Amino acid sequence: MDRNFYHQLSERSMAGEILEESLARELLVSNEIELLSLLNAAYEVRKKFTGKEVSIHIINNAQNGHCPEDCHYCAQAKSSQAAIDEYPLKPDAEILAEAKRAYESGAFRYCMVFAGRGPSQHRVDHLAKLIRAIKSQYPIQICVSTGLLDQKKAQVLKEAGLDRLNHNLNTSQRHYPNICTTHTYEERLNTLRAAKNVGIEICSGLIIGMGETADDILEVAYRLRELEAPSIPVNFLIPIPGNVLDHSAQLTPEYCLRVLCVYRFLNPKAEIRVAAGREIHLRSMEVMALYPANSLFMDGYLNTKGSNQSRTLQMIKDAGFVIKSDYQLEEILNQEAAAPASLSLEQERVQLKRFPDLRPQYQKQ
Ligand code: SF4
Repeated sequence: MDRNFYHQLSERSMAGEILEESLARELLVSNEIELLSLLNAAYEVRKKFTGKEVSIHIINNAQNGHCPEDCHYCAQAKSSQAAIDEYPLKPDAEILAEAKRAYESGAFRYCMVFAGRGPSQHRVDHLAKLIRAIKSQYPIQICVSTGLLDQKKAQVLKEAGLDRLNHNLNTSQRHYPNICTTHTYEERLNTLRAAKNVGIEICSGLIIGMGETADDILEVAYRLRELEAPSIPVNFLIPIPGNVLDHSAQLTPEYCLRVLCVYRFLNPKAEIRVAAGREIHLRSMEVMALYPANSLFMDGYLNTKGSNQSRTLQMIKDAGFVIKSDYQLEEILNQEAAAPASLSLEQERVQLKRFPDLRPQYQKQ
């Protein structure tokens, strides 16, 4: 492909044109299309709409396990035998202390994740109280992941000050029954519509590596474009022993980067997050993800550890990107000066979070 081909990709995406499905498929799978040129074209789009900023997200399991659903990729599912440390909902004081820690670690947004099919009215009211308490103390954006939600419940959270609702589509409608049997793709879609209708920003993405085809990946990208999702996490399956899906498809770093580029072209203004599994699947190419993507998670994922904070921050700094945070990068790096600069090969294997990782503020009575 000549330079004009890549230039046209950027231009068309920046002009808001929808790339044809056949072209998007080519970008994912064709050897004719050079990775470096593709990354550069995606970077042109990222730069125009999000500059050189990288938003950092820290995830917090407000409870862990005890979920009646059977999402095959999830260590908290009833169908999983993964050896996770389960606990019911954390006390409010603990959640507030963790929100403070997230703010002081440089996070722009604090994400609370609740396992389960969806919250009861009682849980929604409690959550609204927590959101108000965090918002009154820290200038941090709040995102929650609560499972299925109807419009009435979404409205209560909106009025409490919720900024975003995370609810991933995860995969295409066609592939959905292969990864979960206790709820449907339609129910997921309805939750996103309910949040959008009351004015909550939606954060929704997918997981790559669950046996899906390139067309499944594209279907989610086009669907998220229709929904105008401003935040799109692109996860790469972390194969947790004991889960129904305990191994991922053979993903190459190149394929993962191509997916991120296609998501950028199809959702040019969105916050595209290189999310769970970046360490495992992108490996030595990890930093390249910041050319199409403009956000990442720090401090690991739902039930597994990721890179340490200083390594992640140093990677962003080394590549010349700017952290979107009120907190000083140098300060964080100095605080962690004693931490190792990079993970060993042993550390880069899947490591489950243990109780002290999941509940650092927890004080035994
Ligand atoms: S992804 Fe959510 S709903 Fe599905 S099993 Fe895990 S915690 Fe439950």
